Amino acid sequence: QSFAELGIPAKLVTALAGEGMEKPFAIQTRVLPDALAKRDVLGRAQTGSGKTLAFGIPVLARLAAEPKQRVASTPRAIILVPTRELARQVNEALNPLSRPLGLRVTTVVGGLSISRQMDALRRGVDVVVATPGRLIDLMDRRAADLSQVEISVLDEADHMADLGFLPAVRRILDATPADTQRLLLSATLDGGVDKLVTEYLTEPAFHAV
Ligand code: AMP
Repeated sequence: QSFAELGIPAKLVTALAGEGMEKPFAIQTRVLPDALAKRDVLGRAQTGSGKTLAFGIPVLARLAAEPKQRVASTPRAIILVPTRELARQVNEALNPLSRPLGLRVTTVVGGLSISRQMDALRRGVDVVVATPGRLIDLMDRRAADLSQVEISVLDEADHMADLGFLPAVRRILDATPADTQRLLLSATLDGGVDKLVTEYLTEPAFHAV
């Protein structure tokens, strides 16, 4: 099956081809139909499987299908990751795909200037890739308003649990509308991830590769 056959918008298929991605990986073939249909998804996937685009494509496709004017400090999608390095990788994977769709992605992580991140949010972004601690900090400073989030992603949820980030993750998800789409990727369901799934996902489609 091709990306086009999975129902991905033509502009995004072209952008994927431009990045050398002609055929979906297994996790993408499984996750994309449910995620594009706006279902919650629980995915069990390891690094290297192509998981970044398995959740990244539905985020971009969903926002591009219904273009909206950007509102200062009010993203339409959040992608939570456990580490700065992973945030950088997700940002690098999504940036070349987001540009042709007219979508703006920004990264907010600890260890870098918060004022620059506040400026970037104020100028308006569609997708925020974030580590939980820094996003909470920005929410507390009223620099990030999650009330208009339409889709949220938790990547490497088990790793977030190991690092003690689940309370922060809960605060963040609690600040998003309850009925919005949620995608959760994790290698295991240990360490409290199972509870997060039952509390925050609604009838999720489960996919493992
Ligand atoms: P990930 O598991 O998301 O870290 O992806 C692993 C690697 O596979 C990354 O270097 C991606 O750029 C690459 N990749 C992901 N999906 C595809 C695809 N459908 N075709 C070719 N390469 C891909």
